[in-house]
Amino acid sequence: MEKRYDFTQIEKQMQEFWEREQFFRFNKDAEGDMYSIDTPPPTVSGSLHIGHLFSYTQAEMIARFRRMQGQNVFYPFGFDDNGLPTERLVEREEKIRANTLPRSEFIIKCQRATEKYENEFKAFWKSLGFSVDWETEYQTISPEVRKISQELFLDLINMGKAYTKESPVLWCTECQTSIAQAELDTSDIDSTFHYIPFFVNGYPLEIATTRPELLYGCVCIFVNPNDERYQQYVGKSAAVPLYNYEVPILTDEKVGIEKGTGVVMCCTFGDSTDAQWYAEYHLPYRKIILPNGKIADDVPYIGGLYVNAAQKEIIRLLDEHRLLLKSETITHTVGIHERCGKPIEIILSQQWYIDILSERERFLKAADEINWYPANMKNRYIAWVENLKWDWCISRQRYFGVPFPVWYCKECGKPAFATPEQLPVNPLEIKYDGACECSSTDFLPESAVFDTWATSSVTPQINERLGLKLAPMSMRTHAHEIIRTWTFYTIVRSLYHAGDIPWKDLMICGFILAKKGEKISKSKSNDKLDPKYLIATHSADVLRYWTAGARLGTDTFFSPDELAIPKRFITKLWNASKFVISHLQDFNLSQMPNLLPVDKWMIERVNEATANAAQLLYEYEVGSAKHEIDDLFWKDFCDNYIEIIKERLYEPDIHGNEERKSGQYALYYALLNILKLYSIYVPHITEHIYQEYFRQHEKEDSIHLTHWVKPSHINNELIRFGEKLKEVMFEMRKYKSGRNLSMRANMDSLDIHTQQRFAEWFKLSEKDIQACSSASVINYIFE
Ligand SMILES: [Zn+2]
Ligand SMILES: [Zn+2]
Repeated sequence: MEKRYDFTQIEKQMQEFWEREQFFRFNKDAEGDMYSIDTPPPTVSGSLHIGHLFSYTQAEMIARFRRMQGQNVFYPFGFDDNGLPTERLVEREEKIRANTLPRSEFIIKCQRATEKYENEFKAFWKSLGFSVDWETEYQTISPEVRKISQELFLDLINMGKAYTKESPVLWCTECQTSIAQAELDTSDIDSTFHYIPFFVNGYPLEIATTRPELLYGCVCIFVNPNDERYQQYVGKSAAVPLYNYEVPILTDEKVGIEKGTGVVMCCTFGDSTDAQWYAEYHLPYRKIILPNGKIADDVPYIGGLYVNAAQKEIIRLLDEHRLLLKSETITHTVGIHERCGKPIEIILSQQWYIDILSERERFLKAADEINWYPANMKNRYIAWVENLKWDWCISRQRYFGVPFPVWYCKECGKPAFATPEQLPVNPLEIKYDGACECSSTDFLPESAVFDTWATSSVTPQINERLGLKLAPMSMRTHAHEIIRTWTFYTIVRSLYHAGDIPWKDLMICGFILAKKGEKISKSKSNDKLDPKYLIATHSADVLRYWTAGARLGTDTFFSPDELAIPKRFITKLWNASKFVISHLQDFNLSQMPNLLPVDKWMIERVNEATANAAQLLYEYEVGSAKHEIDDLFWKDFCDNYIEIIKERLYEPDIHGNEERKSGQYALYYALLNILKLYSIYVPHITEHIYQEYFRQHEKEDSIHLTHWVKPSHINNELIRFGEKLKEVMFEMRKYKSGRNLSMRANMDSLDIHTQQRFAEWFKLSEKDIQACSSASVINYIFE
């Protein structure tokens, strides 16, 4: 073995070796029960950042772990390359707006971008040593997946779970598309409450509003039924200032008595409560805001202006007419679009929806059938489902996405659907060739595309395209911010299409933060944190080892200083392995020696740590399991065991040949199994060491094809004996360092305090203990 471990050479070599030998190729007929992983297809929305490393790497370790338990692991990968994230990336990079160039031209640009970034992503996962079967890769924009997505949409139509209607919808005027509740973020902004008088029989009734530009959209006034101040007004009507038309005064409990004046104007639409009232009280619609963010042309005074300019103008007018009573600054929470940060409007528009509100109970019940890791993440899901206000709007007025397989009758507007044989279909390219019930044969294509989640919510079905029966899959993994989207939507789709939960286990990871509260993915690009740079300078194994340190579901800070400990670990693993292997050159595996108690203890300790780590990994606790293995390696193996038997390895003349063989046997067993445990975390260096020495003796071609030992029982007496032995070592070292003596300094005698029942084992270990303590005599004091 080389003197120093050169990761720059070895990691590449190992990756090429795995790829050449196709060790991670999935074979559905292979032995072992199947363990299937539903991995998040990353959205193609820009360059890689270290945030990507975290959840993906922890899940990759689980794939390796399951494989080494003898399961047949199905670990496919995909890319979510359609939809708004990609479009915005292209708009940003090429400094264009999608709606200013021909649709087909824009789509080509999107395709080019996805290709470029997907190759970059793939190279990155490979450089981290991911054990993915790239043959099972999918793209959500591919014809194959488009077909599945459209088929499942038609399935929803057939079961009455998808519908189209004109209704208030969350709308981004920046991206000029409808969005779903799940794409809504909130932001606290400084705003102003403007106090404006409406008039009831000529007497003023004050309201406070942050959106005076919507005045012409006012359709009624609400007060709280329990608000004594306004009982006299209920049932009357009020004149809208500036515009002088009358609106009714109604009551609703949602009006906050303490907020503003306790009188609220309901506009179509200022917020989601307005939209709720609009439906509940069958209020008329007065169009104010257009999809492009401008005020409708027919609105007096402000028609054609953008919202901000319109607000300024209306305030100026109110002031001029002495209708602005006062203005006060407030901070209030507005809904913003998560993709672009622009405040969301609500407009009336024709969209496609998936019914989710009517099945809330079913979605809540499903949460109990899934194992959540960590368990508290279930609460986030439940809170989200309980808080749902809108059905899932799945149509987007965008370009690069899966088209709706839908046309509309020109005469009566009734939708017509593609036949299953036509799929995948783009209605913009193909004419509908049937006739409507109204006998018209003239049809218009739907130009909207599916929301990207409408396709990525069916990843279990996409994975089944390879002819596998997966449902429910074994495990889904992702970071905690997409519980409301990916977790929720996939559960919805799976319950609808398969009548079952999509997966048994959910593994929810945390984020990497640059500093308090700042997700790395949202921070500015920073060369020092560029994952490609980090791999090139520190190695994939070092990064992986660091990644495993965090508790599942918990956010973690990152700075390059964090990599010092993983680096020290790699050096230690290399040096310890080199030392052990140098003493195994004449070792003969076929002869089973008589084992000394110290050696039996080491073997038992390896078995114990293996069982403990496995139990934690079955609960997806990648970090705690690593901790268990680190304890075994650093404390038991390196600090104690190797020190205790060192002289026995060098000096068979003093200790005996058979005794040396016993040590060799335990060393072989311990190192091989420690490497196996670490191989899920640091696959490169462990494989390299395995190839350098163990491969010639073991039957598997790669360490990653070996299995962890599964001890049927642990001899706890041996473990306790080992603990006693470690105590003796600890006390001896403390004694010497307390007196400034070298560890090799001679001692007249060494007292061992122990129980009578360990006497014989200690006697058999006496030569080792004397050797490592340089004690002339050993005394026993039995407790
Ligand atoms: Zn937007
Ligand atoms: Zn018709």
